Amino acid sequence: MDDLIRVYGASWCPDCRRAKRFLGDQRVPFEWHDIEVDPDGVRIVQERNGGNNTIPTIVFPDGSHLAEPSNEELAEKLGLERSAMMHVYDLVIVGGGPAGLTTSIYAARENLQTLVIDSKGLGGQAGITERLDNYPGFPEGIGGAELADRIVLQAQRYGVEMLQAVSVRSVSSDGEQVDVETATGDHYHARAVLIATGSTYRRTNAPGEDELLGAGIHFCATCDGPFYKGAAELVVLGGGNSGLEEGLFLAQFVDLVTIVQRGDRLTANKLLQDKVAADPKMRVLLNREVTGFRAKDDGSGKLGAIELRNMETGAAEELHPAGCFVFIGLDPNTGFVRGSLDLDARGLILTGMGCQTSMPGVFAAGDVRAGSTKQLASAVGDGAAAAIGIRAYLDAQESKPVHMT
Ligand SMILES: Cc1cc2nc3c(=O)[nH]c(=O)nc-3n(C[C@H](O)[C@H](O)[C@H](O)COP(=O)(O)OP(=O)(O)OC[C@H]3O[C@@H](n4cnc5c(N)ncnc54)[C@H](O)[C@@H]3O)c2cc1C
Repeated sequence: MDDLIRVYGASWCPDCRRAKRFLGDQRVPFEWHDIEVDPDGVRIVQERNGGNNTIPTIVFPDGSHLAEPSNEELAEKLGLERSAMMHVYDLVIVGGGPAGLTTSIYAARENLQTLVIDSKGLGGQAGITERLDNYPGFPEGIGGAELADRIVLQAQRYGVEMLQAVSVRSVSSDGEQVDVETATGDHYHARAVLIATGSTYRRTNAPGEDELLGAGIHFCATCDGPFYKGAAELVVLGGGNSGLEEGLFLAQFVDLVTIVQRGDRLTANKLLQDKVAADPKMRVLLNREVTGFRAKDDGSGKLGAIELRNMETGAAEELHPAGCFVFIGLDPNTGFVRGSLDLDARGLILTGMGCQTSMPGVFAAGDVRAGSTKQLASAVGDGAAAAIGIRAYLDAQESKPVHMT
């Protein structure tokens, strides 16, 4: 019997992409079988579904399978806890990335009952980053997933409770306690709440992008890069740190990685620019704007062309890579607090002393906070600063005189 989960599907199937994404986010290892190129896969899918081609069909190591499961069904099958043990905590942390987990370690060490809730998997963006070379203390660098696992283990050691695959829908306050409502319908009350929900990859919003997501257009090189082993060319959109870093990672799989940048120069740090310039597998196209994406003519539903406009000459151009990876920035995950917390024009949370937001008892840290530097070390530092701010707030609440009537 196999000890890996096997996912059977097709590249054009949105439900397959969702399920793959979910497993990837949870960092659950799985094997992907595209039934369009794997006749054995077709046979297995039909055998399991009474002759039907129902995809995704997900086969588990215990021999059971789920056909077209929702994320919630997957979470249940994988044994992910989706309700917390209690309803009242000292501190609820929304977002289990490096910032939130750091605060949780500080808080739990001070015996605060702490709950971390994450909509996807613990570790946040750091957990899906191939390699981190600038985080102090690791002279050889460290894999993002390994670092995330270590931080989670450290939090567990101090008894932090953690929920995954649970989104927080709203945060409100009655002046005494903060109420955190989840998409599963649970309410958790806390003396203090930290918002550490980070950011999400920005899309180009060019025509054709939605249809080709997962079928040639991707946002995670670590997750999807290996599928292109042996291909001639990949394109990376974005000339910032993420674009160049991920482009260099992708170069190990293919003959050529083309970085496409809208502006007239790369914005990544000099070290990365030097690495790209020295790598014969990398080329850079500046002053190019993406105007659309087209599927192949063969009916496969896979990416066939990226349409560009040369911003210097105005000419229309096309690239025909095997895949395209988009790294053009991030949007803060603050939709659920819009209207309840003060945000800046970009949607980042405004904070004052000690990471305090405009709602008493609610704090913000990491990439989601206005003024943050979108770096792992600063997210961790922010998490520590927020923990100290939260402690000061809770101490002040405890020493408030009690008025008897
Ligand atoms: C490709 C890539 C490469 C990078 N490389 C480096 C590098 O080399 N060096 C470096 O210093 N930094 C790097 N970074 C940046 C670094 O990973 C981030 O700065 C850091 O992870 C931010 O931590 P955070 O905790 O603030 O947010 P995140 O890591 O984004 O974590 C936020 C968490 O909140 C959860 N969440 C969001 N909304 C909700 C909700 N409504 N309810 C519940 N949970 C929610 C998310 O699922 C996520 O797990 C990289 C980032 C990327 C994307």
